[in-house]
Amino acid sequence: MGQIDQDSRKFAVLREAFGFAAFRAGQEPIVDALIDGRNVLAIMPTGAGKSLCYQLPALVRGGLAIVVSPLIALMDDQVAALKLAGLAAEAIHSGKTREVNVAIWRRVVRGAVRLLYLSPERLMAPRMLAALRRLPVCLIAIDEAHCISQWGHSFRADYLGLGALREAFPDVPLAAVTATADRATRDEICDRLFGGAVETIVCGFDRPNIRLTVLAKSNAQRQIERLVRERPGESGIIYRISRRKVEETAAALQGLGVRALPYHAGMSVAERAANQETFLAEAGVVMVATVAFGMGIDKSNVRYVIHGDVPGSLEAYYQEIGRAGRDGAPSDAVMLYGREDVRTRRRFIEEQDCDEERKRIEALRLEALVGFCETTSCRRQVLLGYFGEASGPCGNCDICLVPPQFVDATPAARLAIDMVRTTGERYGAVYLADLLTGEASETVIGRGHDRLPLFGAGADRRRSEWQTILRQLVADGYLAVEPGGYGSLSLADRAAGLIDGTETFRLRLEPPKPGGRRARRRA
Ligand code: ADP
Ligand code: ZN
Repeated sequence: MGQIDQDSRKFAVLREAFGFAAFRAGQEPIVDALIDGRNVLAIMPTGAGKSLCYQLPALVRGGLAIVVSPLIALMDDQVAALKLAGLAAEAIHSGKTREVNVAIWRRVVRGAVRLLYLSPERLMAPRMLAALRRLPVCLIAIDEAHCISQWGHSFRADYLGLGALREAFPDVPLAAVTATADRATRDEICDRLFGGAVETIVCGFDRPNIRLTVLAKSNAQRQIERLVRERPGESGIIYRISRRKVEETAAALQGLGVRALPYHAGMSVAERAANQETFLAEAGVVMVATVAFGMGIDKSNVRYVIHGDVPGSLEAYYQEIGRAGRDGAPSDAVMLYGREDVRTRRRFIEEQDCDEERKRIEALRLEALVGFCETTSCRRQVLLGYFGEASGPCGNCDICLVPPQFVDATPAARLAIDMVRTTGERYGAVYLADLLTGEASETVIGRGHDRLPLFGAGADRRRSEWQTILRQLVADGYLAVEPGGYGSLSLADRAAGLIDGTETFRLRLEPPKPGGRRARRRA
C-alpha cells in the first residue's frame, strides 16, 4: 500500500469504523508506527484513548489482531463497544462455556474475526500459539502492559510469559499500552516484552487547566484553612498523610463552617461510602482524605486538590491532582512542601519490609518528587518531563506566573561548603547552620566545634537563611544528602566549581508570601 493510500485509508477507518472526526493528541504517531509494522510502547493516561491506537491499525492492516487483556470484564467491555460499532471482535475466556469458546474459535479460523481478545495464559498456551501461527496475525496488542512489571502494584505472573511473543511472531508488530508512566515500569516493560529497545510514545498527560502550585509548608493546618476559605462553596479534596491528620483537618474545617468530611481506611465501610456519596452528589463538599480516597472517583467539577503533606511519588501526585478539573474548567493543585515530610517519607521507605532494589526505586521516585518541589523552572515541564512527555513552559504554574528572583550568593555558598568540608561531611543542615551563625550549644561545645576557625563566620545571616542556602545547595547539586544517614550533607559534583571559583551560586529569594489566587488574578 502506498503512503497516500495508507493515510487516506487510516482516516477513512477513523471516520467510518469509529465515528471520530480526528485523532486525539498522540494517537496518530502510535497508529502510524503500527500500520508500518513497527513495535511500539504507548503510554497514555486513562481515558486518553489508548484502545483506538491498536484497534485502528488492526483494521487497516487486515487479518487477525490479538489483544491481550488481564481481566475478563475489560475484555467484555471492549468487545461489546466494538460490536456496537459493527466491528468483528470476540473474546475467548474462562467466563464463557466451552461450546461458546469453540464456536468463536471456528469463526476466528474462518477469518471472520478482526480482533480477538485473550488472557495472557490462554494466548501463551502452546496449542493456542501453534494454532495462531497458522493464521494471518496482523498485530498483537498488550493492554495494561504494566502488569508485567514487578515494581508496579498490579504485577501478574502470567504477563511474564508474554516475553516469548516477539520470537513466536517475529514479523508481527507488537504494541504494549499502559497508563503507568514511571521510568522503572517503562524500562521493565521494554526489557521484558521487547528485549531492551522499543519506540516509546508518551502523550496526553498534560492537564493544562490545573494550575500547579507548591508552597513552603509552615503551619499546614492554617495554610489549608486559608486555601479553603479562599475558595468558598467549591468542591475540593485535601490529602493528608495519616488518619489522625485527616480527622484533625476535617474537624478544624467543620469548626469554620466548611462542609468537610473525613475519609480514611480506619473508618467503617458504611461511613466511608456515605461520605463519598455526599461528596459526589452535593456541591461545595470538601473531602479530607488519605490516599485511600479517589480510586475511580469521577466528579467533574472538583475545583481543587490540596496536598497538606508531601505525597509519596510524582506518580501519586499526578494521579491525585488529576481528580481536579475533569470538566476542563480552571482548577488548582496546591501542595504544601516541607523537608520534614520528605524525611518521614524516606523513613517509610527504609522501614518497609521489602528488598533493597525495591527500596532503591522508591527512593528515586521520592527524589523525583523533591526535584519537582524544588525546581526553579516550569513545574509542568518537570512533571511531564518525568513521564517522558516534552513541553514548553506552561504559563499556569506558580513558577511561570511569579518567576523566582535570584541574588548572587557565591561567597555564602563557598563558606557553607567549607563548613561542610571542615567538619568532615557528617552533619545536617540544622547543625551546620548553628556552626555558621556561631550558636554555642552544648553539643557544639561538646564536639569542640566552637573552636573551629569558621565558627560564627556567617553570623551576618540568620540560621534559617543558612538552612535555606544549604538546602538550595543540595537542590542545585553542590551538596548531597547522605543516603541512609540523618540528613548529613556531603560535597557533590558541582561543589568543585564553586570552590575553585569557576561557578557562581544564585540564591533563590523566598517567594512573596502566598497571596492565594485572588491576589494573583488581580495582577
Ligand atoms: P483508555 O483506554 O486510554 O483509558 P479508551 O480507549 O477507553 O481510553 O478511550 C476513552 C474514550 O475516548 C472512549 O470513549 C473513546 O471512544 C474516546 N476516543 C478515543 N479516541 C478518540 C478520538 N480520536 N476522538 C474522539 N473520541 C475518542
Ligand atoms: Zn509552568
